Amino acid sequence: MFFQQRRAPTRLVAEAVDPTRRRFLKLGCACCIMAAAPLSRLEAQAVGSAEVQRHLAAAREAAGTDLTPLLRLADVIVPPTERRPSMEELIRMPAPPPGRAFDNLVFLGSEWVTAWAVPTSDGIILIDAMDNDEQAETITDAGMRRTGLDPTAVKLLVVTHGHGDHYGGCGHFQRRYGIRVVMSGEDWRMVETKLEFDLPAWGRPPKRDIAVEDGGKVALGDTALDVIATPGHTMGTISLLMDLKDGGATHRGLLWGGTAFNFGRQPDRIRRLQAYIDGTARTREIAARQGVDVLLSNHTGWDGAAQKLAAKRPGAPNPFVLGKDTVQRALTVMHECARATMGVWNA
Ligand SMILES: [Zn+2]
Repeated sequence: MFFQQRRAPTRLVAEAVDPTRRRFLKLGCACCIMAAAPLSRLEAQAVGSAEVQRHLAAAREAAGTDLTPLLRLADVIVPPTERRPSMEELIRMPAPPPGRAFDNLVFLGSEWVTAWAVPTSDGIILIDAMDNDEQAETITDAGMRRTGLDPTAVKLLVVTHGHGDHYGGCGHFQRRYGIRVVMSGEDWRMVETKLEFDLPAWGRPPKRDIAVEDGGKVALGDTALDVIATPGHTMGTISLLMDLKDGGATHRGLLWGGTAFNFGRQPDRIRRLQAYIDGTARTREIAARQGVDVLLSNHTGWDGAAQKLAAKRPGAPNPFVLGKDTVQRALTVMHECARATMGVWNA
């Protein structure tokens, strides 16, 4: 497994974090902040209930043997027996090589978080900005150059949701290239008022720029990304539907904007989980209608993007093309894990 190849940590530089705040943030390390809240006795009992077990079984059945990474969503109610690498360990690992998942979609990411570049006829749309300025430079910019893209051609940056591992490098792109930043109105409000997670390794949130909502488009040149609201992970999380070109073929892709149920300590966790349940059901219908056959994430741990890229061979089927049925199954796994978690959190 890729996460067993641990190497020496690299130094991370956060942007403009004052020393007092940095000390404060150290008190709540990534694993503690992001970890699931411990289950109460009633919640632990609810895990064994027929309802919760039925949803977990439905999730496992939909996952089959190919979508098992998505079952980790249920870690919040069924803690894994094996040790999983922490976010900080994943951030420190050497970044996987960048590369073209499709003719018009380039992977630029670390083992933790992914930025995607969408080259268009009038410049590049970047989706997410990594953890901080240093990564934006050494992973995103360098990755674009390595794959034949010019970072100065980036015009728009879509931030899928208001957590620092997706906006942290925004400042780099705004200052250096004068790009515009797109986020949902709800998450602009969130990053302007209260950050629900923050880490010393994350850059500061961008200043409010363009807001998009469900049904909107992010358009540049010959390309338009369709925005759908998929709230839950944050209440303003957006996902993107896009046409993906692969040689002569065009596929329909869905980039899911916020996956984990890491809001178990938040007072509005039930509202958010219900939004996630409704959002996965609605998106499954949209995906079926539009023939979505590619499902992407902004974390390689969820979509295996780095491994798929490494496995991609000229002339062979593109490993990023899952097929319509598999995309439907994936959304079912997410939906059923959310419903199982609801059965526990509601106990
Ligand atoms: Zn997040």
